[in-house]
Amino acid sequence: QAKAEGRGVARRFDPAQFAKAEQRRRDEAEVLRALDNHEFEVYYQPIVDLDGEHTVGVEALVRWRHPERGVLPPGAFLDLAESMGVVPRLGGWVLEQACMQAAEWQRQVPGFELNVNLSASQLGNPDLVDEVRNVLERSGLTPSLLVLELTESVALTDLVESARVLGALKNLGVRIALDDFGTGFSSLSHLAALPVDVVKIDRSFVQAMAETAGASVAEAVLQIARTFDLAPVAEGVEDASQADRLRELECAQAQGYHFAKPMPAQEMTALLQRQSAGLSL
Ligand code: C2E
Ligand code: MG
Ligand code: MG
Ligand code: MG
Repeated sequence: QAKAEGRGVARRFDPAQFAKAEQRRRDEAEVLRALDNHEFEVYYQPIVDLDGEHTVGVEALVRWRHPERGVLPPGAFLDLAESMGVVPRLGGWVLEQACMQAAEWQRQVPGFELNVNLSASQLGNPDLVDEVRNVLERSGLTPSLLVLELTESVALTDLVESARVLGALKNLGVRIALDDFGTGFSSLSHLAALPVDVVKIDRSFVQAMAETAGASVAEAVLQIARTFDLAPVAEGVEDASQADRLRELECAQAQGYHFAKPMPAQEMTALLQRQSAGLSL
């Protein structure tokens, strides 16, 4: 049958299938055009110190400023970009932009930290370590103030290789964070094998804190962080009661809509200016 369906032999024409393939081709062409036309933009979300609720750093989050569809979040294009193999290119650009910008903020706010996300394809890119070294040099960013975030599923795909690459990155002086912490790991012993400094407590645990059972899960995740001597940052904090609870649990840093949403660089600059003038977020 495979032969009967071979090239040139009429397979029954499926308009839905055809339309889907056509759409996919158009989407891919659009992503390539967007890269060439600089339609991607880096947004920044404050990471705050839960004690004083002042901004200690930011997470860089990529957006696509689409000419017709407006500002699109990564969920709308990252999988497609990944399947096209362009994420290392896009991610390299994000890293460059974010480091240049953060170097400027570091002159305003000493010790200001920058977090940048890395996908599996970026971690697997043999040029990654050189890229990070070069961008640190060009931007003049203090290496220890750059935090590279990766999810457990990325880090644990090939533990030995990940440990090697992360070790090389750590030799540059940068720090490593495990993103969406608690949602993916298969074995705690893997954690010990990776040179990780920070864990980002997944939003699902923060959101579940209001329930009795959920509260103990968040507590347990924070306890694991402490045991492995990892600095915890809570993600997705959306209200004051969550922030209060996290303070009680001695989580030092957090990020979420309760403090600020991701925003363009210019808005972030204005926020930092208000903050250094002694005003709150
Ligand atoms: P992530 O690294 O876990 O980033 C946190 C996500 O949570 C962001 O979504 C952020 O906008 C969202 N968020 C922050 N605070 C809250 C809150 O209080 N409530 C809720 N519901 N959400 C909140 P975003 O920007 O859509 O990014 C989604 C994911 O895309 C990121 O998850 C990260 O895995 C990936 N990503 C983003 N930018 C990049 C990038 O430059 N490179 C790579 N490789 N991946 C990226
Ligand atoms: Mg992240
Ligand atoms: Mg996360
Ligand atoms: Mg996530």
